[in-house]
Amino acid sequence: MLISKHYLRLMTGFLFCSTLLAAQDNRPKNIILFIGDGMGIAQITAGRTVKGKLELERFRDLGLLITHSADNYLTDSAAGATALATGEKTYNGAIGVDVDKKPLKTVLEYAEQAGKATGLISTSSVTHATPASFAAHVDSRKKDNEIAEGMSRSGVDVLIGGGLAYFLPASAEGSKRDDELDLLSRLAKPQQIVRTAEAFRAYSGKEKLVALLADKHMGKADERPLTLKEMTRKAIEILSQDEDGFFLMVEGSQIDWGGHGNDTEYIIMEMVDFDAAVGEGLDFAESNGETLVIVTADHETGGFSLEKGSVAEHKVEKGDFTTNYHTAEMVPLFAAGPSARLLTGIHQNTHVGTVMISLIK
Ligand code: MG
Ligand code: ZN
Repeated sequence: MLISKHYLRLMTGFLFCSTLLAAQDNRPKNIILFIGDGMGIAQITAGRTVKGKLELERFRDLGLLITHSADNYLTDSAAGATALATGEKTYNGAIGVDVDKKPLKTVLEYAEQAGKATGLISTSSVTHATPASFAAHVDSRKKDNEIAEGMSRSGVDVLIGGGLAYFLPASAEGSKRDDELDLLSRLAKPQQIVRTAEAFRAYSGKEKLVALLADKHMGKADERPLTLKEMTRKAIEILSQDEDGFFLMVEGSQIDWGGHGNDTEYIIMEMVDFDAAVGEGLDFAESNGETLVIVTADHETGGFSLEKGSVAEHKVEKGDFTTNYHTAEMVPLFAAGPSARLLTGIHQNTHVGTVMISLIK
């Protein structure tokens, strides 16, 4: 009994490794990972009802991810993003560290090591749990200043989102730091740093871009001066200049906040904004031919369900919620491009990190 179980496990491991090895002929040059924070099936369906047709419908390879963290049936976004970024489960609140608070090497760091360009986009502060877990190693998601410091040393080339206050020295207006570190100057040259949507649109640099467009989080989709699609396009324009390829993570951060607020309209607006950005990634991948695009979520938020609506009128008339926190349901995964097949099926969330890292290493 024991022997056969062990044998089975060996065989499964062997099959998995040989699948990965076989896929290396099919290694993507670039990887774009889209994370819809809090995006479950109901959130996607609500977006589809209103938008009519989603960019997500262009994918042919789909899967499901099991989201629990190392210490909780319900993951938070820190443990969730750390699993996606590193291939390891950790405790809720952990930013790029394992259950013993030791740093875990992230896909972004592997990409840097491989000479690729890297980017992170978020509509929250870039120090918030999801983007932070790709470029910092801190024992608690609450330590924005430490996270900003870690990110400033990560080598990330394109950083777009909110969170300016954590990168400014204490003496600068609007700073939330308690030291005089000037983290912006570690990240980029002055001419590569923008703070407004106007400057963002006018920016034509081809090497790096640090666009911190709010002191903390950016506003809701209908208040933001830039769509996630515009941010994604600019990031790809810059990152794709690198002949070694790139890794880019794009987060639709506030789908989650709509769920926490049990606010159907907020969820839909964020879902539609996120989906358009996914379309931008797919357009690039289709023309480029060497880009793996992955879309998934860290967890579902709200226990959201759709109870009344109209397909013909493109409206959700009644959404309902079971909680104002996260739920444990599996989340969908979509993949396209070289090696997309490796991501189909039902997997732990760590599988995404494991596969991305194996394709980059
Ligand atoms: Mg997030
Ligand atoms: Zn949340």
